[in-house]
Amino acid sequence: MTIEIQKIREDFPILDQKIYKRQLVYFDNAATTQRPQQVIDALNQTYTEYYGNIHRGAHFMADKATAAYEETREKVKNLINAESREQIIFTKGTTESINLAAFSFGEAFVREGDEIIVSEMEHHSNIVPWQLMAGRKGAKIVMLPIDDDGRLQIEKLDQLITPKTKLIAVAHVSNVLGTINPVATIARIAHTKDIRIFVDGAQAAPHRQIDVQDLDVDFYAFSAHKMYGPNGVGVLYGKKELLEQMPPYQGGGEMISEVKFSGTTYNELPYKFEAGTPNISDVIAFGAAIDYLLSIGLENLASWEHELLEYATSKLIVIPGLRIYGIQALKSGVISFNVEGIHFFDLGTMLDKFGIAVRTGHHCADPLMDHFDIQGTVRASFAVYNTKEEIDVFVEALKKVIAMF
Ligand code: PMP
Repeated sequence: MTIEIQKIREDFPILDQKIYKRQLVYFDNAATTQRPQQVIDALNQTYTEYYGNIHRGAHFMADKATAAYEETREKVKNLINAESREQIIFTKGTTESINLAAFSFGEAFVREGDEIIVSEMEHHSNIVPWQLMAGRKGAKIVMLPIDDDGRLQIEKLDQLITPKTKLIAVAHVSNVLGTINPVATIARIAHTKDIRIFVDGAQAAPHRQIDVQDLDVDFYAFSAHKMYGPNGVGVLYGKKELLEQMPPYQGGGEMISEVKFSGTTYNELPYKFEAGTPNISDVIAFGAAIDYLLSIGLENLASWEHELLEYATSKLIVIPGLRIYGIQALKSGVISFNVEGIHFFDLGTMLDKFGIAVRTGHHCADPLMDHFDIQGTVRASFAVYNTKEEIDVFVEALKKVIAMF
């Protein structure tokens, strides 16, 4: 273990507080993480020192804000090892990234009768935009099923892929089960048949090194707010030859080259997909979040979170009546469980009274819930600032809550 956990915790002022007179234990990191002081400071700095509208300014403040905004693009490019900065599009989150990709890819490449394969474990945001596009284009959504361990049945791809298949949409990491999906393998299978792959990286980018070239994916999306960055910032990475052929998602300022009533031409990448004034300050502060992640080291972070996952799993599986969903190997720091005879919502509400923040419900993954024939789960998800002591507090509180029922 090469990270200094106490030092890291000191960077997150919000963690040091009491909820219902108990020390806060924040285990809802898959929903959103907290931000370190470095990110809060970066956000403050833009508003107090150099805020201005970007790309079109003829003054110092606008130029400085533009440079800082574009510097974050460069940082994102390096973080995921994209080929070029033109392939990094800022959005307001993973959801908007997927909607953008589904709309524009659909307009460019999908015809009536075509098929899009979507996995059964997807977050609603990696299902519904594809359904909307399929509805518009007269295309069909085909489900890639999971097995009872929550693993994608990729051996079924052979049967599911047809000459009509245009794209496979899949999560890198499940937000419910934590399963790490073999996206490089899926990309290889897809590409041999000239099919594209879209990867929802919302639960992967905060926890491991992503190399889009190594994975050889066509699209990759993630959100800053799940990786210690600000709200309202997301990223869409895409292969350049695809992005170039795709039409704009929204029209407005910034995305144009020339506007005439007789016809408009569009800006070059990535600006073609960034209509209007973007989320300037938050993008700049996202740069500070990336610096923060890199200062810890993604490998250090991943190995610490893995240690937390194993520790928590070993303490939870011995609790009578408790079932953890999904495989226990090859997964990220997410544990979804139910306790026999107790509603997940009651468990979550009672844990909250012990100062412990977990998530309860369907986690925006109804098809996955249907697969396990449940309405929801309790989900504990870890971040780099969590500790084994917090897991002890959580497990003891859970045992007390179970005993009350
Ligand atoms: N996909 C996955 C796997 C997620 O976990 C989430 C967030 N819960 C999203 C997509 C949507 O992300 P956002 O709400 O930041 O757009």
